[in-house]
Amino acid sequence: MTQRLGILGGTFNPIHFGHLAAAEEVRDRLKLEKGIFIPSFLPPHKSDEDIPSAVQRQEMIRLAIRGNAHFTVSDMEIRRGGRSYTIDTIEALHQAHPGAELYFLTGLDSFLEIRTWKDWDRLMTLCSFVVLSRDGYRFRDIAQLGLLDVPEQELSALDAREKDQMLITGESRPVYLERIPFYDISSTDIRTRVREGRSIKYRLPEAVEHYIIENKLYA
Ligand code: ATP
Ligand code: MG
Repeated sequence: MTQRLGILGGTFNPIHFGHLAAAEEVRDRLKLEKGIFIPSFLPPHKSDEDIPSAVQRQEMIRLAIRGNAHFTVSDMEIRRGGRSYTIDTIEALHQAHPGAELYFLTGLDSFLEIRTWKDWDRLMTLCSFVVLSRDGYRFRDIAQLGLLDVPEQELSALDAREKDQMLITGESRPVYLERIPFYDISSTDIRTRVREGRSIKYRLPEAVEHYIIENKLYA
């Protein structure tokens, strides 16, 4: 049986219920055996400000996924060092898991920028993309990327909540569009709230909340 692995990359600064709920929903829908969270070492699109050490971001993931036997965290991008590019990570995962099918989960906000990613066209031949809905972003804007052969009108059905899922085939690898239960949570908002002394309860696991307070992150 081919192993089906879900991969979620990001800065996870910090990890929150948006990441966790989306990853679990997709794991269940697509019957993936594992969900691997991979914190980036240095995110290619972001500046250094507000970034706790990579090891601290990894530790928060470890705390967050305790209790889900399907989830693991990988330190491969941290060990590799330098800028973290998804193409390098996916190639390394193919070597580590020969024959496995790789599903790269990404929020709609990130996917709409895919043309700026290193070797994005080759990347799309190496893994299936699973694009997750995100508050404030529209699936129909994917049409403008000009890389998937699907009419804007069909994509709009997802935005209008008439549909939860769409599978786009005919490309080198299938692309899954997934409207997931609404979790309007972002790490940016959590960091702002901590800085302003506001509550972050119920936006992320309690253990992560405690870790942030104890280590005075984002304060
Ligand atoms: P920041 O505000 O710092 O950008 P973030 O909340 O967007 O943080 P990232 O670490 O940038 O978190 O996200 C990693 C991946 O998870 C990205 O592909 C992002 O689009 C996706 N993602 C983050 N939050 C959600 C959410 N609430 N629902 C669905 N996908 C999400
Ligand atoms: Mg983000």
